Amino acid sequence: MRSKKSRLLSIIVAVAFALALVPSTAFAATQSSPAQTTQVESAMTAVVGTVGAAGPVLTAVDPGVAATYDNLYAAVQGETNANAEYLAFAAQAKADGYPAVANLFIATAAAEQKHSDDEWAVLVTLGATDRPVAAAPTVGTTAENLQTAINGEYYEYTTMYPDFLATAQDEGVTAAARIFNFAQQAEQIHYNNYSDVLANLDNPTYLNATYKTVYRCPVCGAVFTPATLPSSRCNICGTAISAFVVYNLATYDNLYTAVQGETNAVANYTAFAAKAQAEGYPTVARLFTATAAAEQTHADAEWAVLVSMGATDRPVADTPVVGTTAENLTAAIAGEDYEWTTMYPGFLATAQDEGVTAAARIFNLAQQAEHLHYNNYSDVLANLGNPAYLLQAYSTIYRCPVCGAIFTQATLPTSGRCSICGTSESAFIVYGPDIVSVTPTAFVQKLSGNQNNLTVNVTVKNSDGLVTTTSTTLAIASNSAGTYTVGNYKVYVDTKGNDQIRACYIVQ
Ligand SMILES: [Zn+2]
Ligand SMILES: [Zn+2]
Repeated sequence: MRSKKSRLLSIIVAVAFALALVPSTAFAATQSSPAQTTQVESAMTAVVGTVGAAGPVLTAVDPGVAATYDNLYAAVQGETNANAEYLAFAAQAKADGYPAVANLFIATAAAEQKHSDDEWAVLVTLGATDRPVAAAPTVGTTAENLQTAINGEYYEYTTMYPDFLATAQDEGVTAAARIFNFAQQAEQIHYNNYSDVLANLDNPTYLNATYKTVYRCPVCGAVFTPATLPSSRCNICGTAISAFVVYNLATYDNLYTAVQGETNAVANYTAFAAKAQAEGYPTVARLFTATAAAEQTHADAEWAVLVSMGATDRPVADTPVVGTTAENLTAAIAGEDYEWTTMYPGFLATAQDEGVTAAARIFNLAQQAEHLHYNNYSDVLANLGNPAYLLQAYSTIYRCPVCGAIFTQATLPTSGRCSICGTSESAFIVYGPDIVSVTPTAFVQKLSGNQNNLTVNVTVKNSDGLVTTTSTTLAIASNSAGTYTVGNYKVYVDTKGNDQIRACYIVQ
């Protein structure tokens, strides 16, 4: 066990060692500025000060792990500050026109958060209760911010974590040693990334190609580019790369926007369906219901991609604003028009540019499906005063379960496959009215000799109020009995003599 005095000494030595190891450019900057020197001194005071600050809690800490306890506090404070800094630096990088650098800062901020969380979890097992909060970041230009980040990472991976690791091993705090070991190696990778970015800050093509997609190991906090990504497992901690969190540029935000929009559309169309039903437009209600399910498919598919990129907080629907059915159709048309002419084409181009293939595929399908939705709603609004047309044209609705296309009897592809995504029509979801009654009738017309004409009708009434009659006429002999196919039904008819019906009923 080390005494408090020797622990204090080791920290002071560590800080002095850190100063000696700071890269020459940064060291020169430190030497040239009195303000910088003051910062280093106050940082040293802060590190030493944790011994005193933790005093009341320290009485409950096993004296054999006291140095590691203090080191964990210093590490949590440093990682917490780094998280806040990098998020602020990301915002500045976006403002400075470096979206790929922002992407890297965001991913690395999450890595530092993981370090902080892991270190805090060990501290809690040692009795800690008062978690450090972030100091307010000092934000400069992106070049200055990168230099700040490089200096911090350099100190952590060359000095702070090696020292903390040795002490944790010395004191037998295995959980802390494991985290310090991972963090040290992760910070070295962060240092390499930031150094590469700063060296190439005047080369946006390179930055975008290299950092538009970065991968964060969710266990150790390593941040990889496509070029440095291991082939199967994290080279620090062994985590499978399939578990890595992927950070892309605008597509991530675009997916969020799309999920929000589609989720709102589901809520809107469901409410609009109820309103249409109440206003006596059963087929319009059915179209809204089917289209709501299509938008749900889009939202789910987009959310699945977001989850694969690390999202956890799924958008929920805004409260629908419901007007008359005519007003609701107008709102729906405006929404679909925006989506198919503007939003999805833009998102698609961005996703293709960023190489997010899964998102690009969904945006492409959704764009085409929204076009069909737009056409349907526009046709319905134009014919809202023609109930006979609506009852016929929108009696049966077909939804492609893959792309969300909505077809009517008139627009159903003749190929037997979805015109957007190629899904077989046998997989389509069919929305139709309930059948209220099926009534067969028949009559016989006497012709010459033993020849008669039999006409068989089937009259179907559905829940929309629509009545349809299908007929078949055949030549029969007198006193004939048989089963005849009429549309979707089979009808048994028994004739008596030349012109009478003995029996007529549906055979199933
Ligand atoms: Zn890892
Ligand atoms: Zn389809």
